[in-house]
Amino acid sequence: MPLETLPLFRDDAYLRDCEATIVSINDRGGIILDKTVFYATSGGQPGDTGMLLLGGMSVPIAATVQGESKAEIVHVPAAPASLPGAGMAVRAEIDWNRRHRHMRMHTALHLLCSLIPFPVTGGSIGAEESRLDFDISDAGAVDKDELTERLNGLVAADHSVATRWISDEELAENPGLVRTMSVKPPIGTGRVRLVAIGEDGSVDLQPCGGTHVRSTAEIGALAVTKIEKKGRQNRRIRLAFAAPA
Ligand SMILES: [Zn+2]
Repeated sequence: MPLETLPLFRDDAYLRDCEATIVSINDRGGIILDKTVFYATSGGQPGDTGMLLLGGMSVPIAATVQGESKAEIVHVPAAPASLPGAGMAVRAEIDWNRRHRHMRMHTALHLLCSLIPFPVTGGSIGAEESRLDFDISDAGAVDKDELTERLNGLVAADHSVATRWISDEELAENPGLVRTMSVKPPIGTGRVRLVAIGEDGSVDLQPCGGTHVRSTAEIGALAVTKIEKKGRQNRRIRLAFAAPA
């Protein structure tokens, strides 16, 4: 039976550490806790790295992934470790500098998404550079410098970033909501987490399970580094943090 880990980062992306208990160690040495601050790789955002501290030991964690179900979060040790089993108390600490860059980048991709009114076909978030792929026809060609300027305008405006949960029913009763969302929410699990940038999602509104910063100013200055043509209709837009002035 798949295990469930309470994902503390979902309600508070700014938690850097927590106390937890080992629930299980899987046959590949992956560590599953009852709760964690480690984000598991999904939706284009890499999983966290960091350290588990237990019984006088420090276990470096090289990756965090989803296990047998989306709700099971597996901490992957950098090297095989012989660990005590279930029931052991641990302290979990993420590499905050790396995660915070992911949060800034992830939020930046929402802004990019809001500026390009075409379907997103793929994407990837990194601590240095990120990208989004759009299904854009030639008529919708975008200019690199203009896009950079508009992105930095949204950053400077310091829009709030908030999350809220809505039920499938609430979504069904408010068809206008789906129209304002750039990504259609996954229906069927009972509830959907929406990420709203700007008042009532005036800048961007979409379902998302990743980690974001609280307001757009925290992203810092951005630069569109490259717009590549991938196939007849696809454009890959690459984004990086602008070098500090
Ligand atoms: Zn997101």
